[in-house]
Amino acid sequence: MSTVQHIAKFFPTTHLAAAAICTLVIGTTLVLLPESNAQQTQSLPVTINEDTASAVTDILEDNDIAVNATQTELQLALVETATTPPAAGSADIEQLSDDADKPVRMVVENIPLEDEWKDFKVSNGDSLSGIFLKAGLTATDVYRVTNAVKDTKALTRIYPGQTLSFLIKNDQLVQLRHIKSQLDTAVISKTEDSYILEEHTRKPETLQRFVNGTINNSLFLDAQQAGLSNRMIMELAAIFGWDIDFALDIRKGDSFNIVYEEKFLDGKMIGEGNILSAQFTNRGDTFTALRFTDSKGKSSYYTPDGKSMRKAFLRTPIDFARISSRFNLKRKHPVLKTTRPHRGTDYAARTGTPIKSSGDGKIIWRGKKGGYGNAVIVQHGGNITTLYAHMSKFKKGQRVGKRVKQGQVIGYVGSTGLSSGPHLHYEFRVNGVHKNSQTVKLPQANPVPKSERKLFNKVAADVVAKLESYKATQLASTAN
Ligand SMILES: [Zn+2]
Repeated sequence: MSTVQHIAKFFPTTHLAAAAICTLVIGTTLVLLPESNAQQTQSLPVTINEDTASAVTDILEDNDIAVNATQTELQLALVETATTPPAAGSADIEQLSDDADKPVRMVVENIPLEDEWKDFKVSNGDSLSGIFLKAGLTATDVYRVTNAVKDTKALTRIYPGQTLSFLIKNDQLVQLRHIKSQLDTAVISKTEDSYILEEHTRKPETLQRFVNGTINNSLFLDAQQAGLSNRMIMELAAIFGWDIDFALDIRKGDSFNIVYEEKFLDGKMIGEGNILSAQFTNRGDTFTALRFTDSKGKSSYYTPDGKSMRKAFLRTPIDFARISSRFNLKRKHPVLKTTRPHRGTDYAARTGTPIKSSGDGKIIWRGKKGGYGNAVIVQHGGNITTLYAHMSKFKKGQRVGKRVKQGQVIGYVGSTGLSSGPHLHYEFRVNGVHKNSQTVKLPQANPVPKSERKLFNKVAADVVAKLESYKATQLASTAN
């Protein structure tokens, strides 16, 4: 399995913004290459862009070339993996476990487990009644069991990878266990004239783990060597991805500290939890982030003084795309030799690639707009508007006046209007003045609200103290 696919495997279970994911995967792929190559590869998008700009001499406003092969492959790898149905139950735990396959038997202790138990692992296309028949039971048994639990959610869904265990005595089903995950089991037991259901849920023990490392080769290699899983590396990079470009900014000597949760069941690690705090030092600048869950249960990452780690705008409102033309107010038209400014950033991408609103806001234009073709304009706070042009189609169910969230899809890449090929033309305006979306200073997302401040300060002090004490312990142990 390639690294990209391996990483992509974790996508369905992570809660990362799609934008961050895309940047990360591409970033990770780049930094995986040996250093000499990495340098070349990193400058590749720029090289293509300049070559293209001079080579393509059409009279249209925007230049485009097809998405390059690497990105196409990446995209395919992602799409393939992403369409795999999610693993059942607490998938994040199961995927990370070495032997999630093995049914957990110790869940119910009152009945000894002997040979009379028959285990069936659910495969794709299996039905409940099919498995009953395989176990030697009849359609009547299926009916009696499902009828007995019909007012519950038990047995309404079985997923590939789960296990059904039958205890059959004298052709009679005595007990059925639906082992949904290492943590959840439904036990259906025979009574005198029917069946009763018991749901067993186990809580894993959560422990904290501290890992630190220094970059010698790449974030990916060095973090992996330090003991971080791919998922943790992705999440670490997602937290700092708003401040650090992990494909371009990383230098030898950069370092990181991370405290995260590990979940244990019967003394065995069954999965990873959340990153509680993390630090990344990039070229001498140290960024610190901590996870805060507010009183309503919503979690996000903040600096120790309560600023959001996120920005109010995505730098790039599209995944699986490559810059094909940059913002340039002095662009000389290749054919006409006159100055024809390019007041936006172009992203070459396949027709149909989703386009996301770069920030929270309200749709103020949605329709044909001259050379822009099908365009959407979103009004944000701070007198900022963003414009998305040449769409093939709009996202269904939206209209002018409707509010959209950062990252919400608003339309799809196309080539409508004055466009030489499928791409997104993206504009960022402040008080009506066009800014370079690649370099404009983006406002932070909302800080910790006043009402949560007291709770936050307490949590932040605890978390930072813990991080510092882990670091001190680590230093002491390496000094010995
Ligand atoms: Zn453009």
